[in-house]
Amino acid sequence: MKIITTPDPRLREKSEKVGKITPEILDIIDDMRKLSLDWEKEHPYELSAAMAAPQMGINKRIIIVRDDMEDKSKATFTALINPVVIKAEGKVVKDYEGCLSVPSIYGMVPRETKVRVKAKLEDGTEVRIKATDELARTLLHEIDHLDGILFIDHIKGEKDAFYRMNEKGDLEPVDYDKDIKDNKELFPDD
Ligand SMILES: [Zn+2]
Repeated sequence: MKIITTPDPRLREKSEKVGKITPEILDIIDDMRKLSLDWEKEHPYELSAAMAAPQMGINKRIIIVRDDMEDKSKATFTALINPVVIKAEGKVVKDYEGCLSVPSIYGMVPRETKVRVKAKLEDGTEVRIKATDELARTLLHEIDHLDGILFIDHIKGEKDAFYRMNEKGDLEPVDYDKDIKDNKELFPDD
C-alpha cells in the first residue's frame, strides 16, 4: 500500500459507495491511518490532516479526518464512510491547501466556511456533522477526492494561487505560466 500521486488516473475516477461495512472495509481504513502517519514521518513540516481512499488507489467512498489538527502527537483519525455534503454555505474564503497526492504544491483555494455532512462511522452509526472553517475545508477537500476532483482544479488558470514548499518548510509563490500551466503531471488532460 502506498499513497499515489498525480498524474495517476485513479485519482480522477469517481469512487463507488460502500455497501456493507465488511472486515475488508475496516482493513482499508486501518491502512489509510497507517499511510497517513507514515507520510507525516517523512514530511516534518506538514501535518497529515486527512486522506481519502482513492489516494491509495482504492476507489471507494471512504475518508479519514484527524481528530486534532493542531497537535501532531495526537494521531487519531475518524473514518467517514459514504460522506455526503448536505449543504455548503457561509462566506467563501481562500486559504492554503495541500494534498498528499499533489507533492509539494500548495494553493489558495476558495471554499465555503460552513458545511453539513452526513456519513456512516466504522460501526455503522449514521452521523451528521456541522463543521466550520478548517474542518469544513478539510471535509470539502476530501469529499472532492471521492468524485475525482483535486484542489488544483478549483484554482486552475489563477496565476497567483499556486505555491511550493521549500526545504525549510516555507511556502513560496510559483510561476504559473512556467511551472503550472503546461504541467502534465498536474493537468494531464489539457
Ligand atoms: Zn487531498
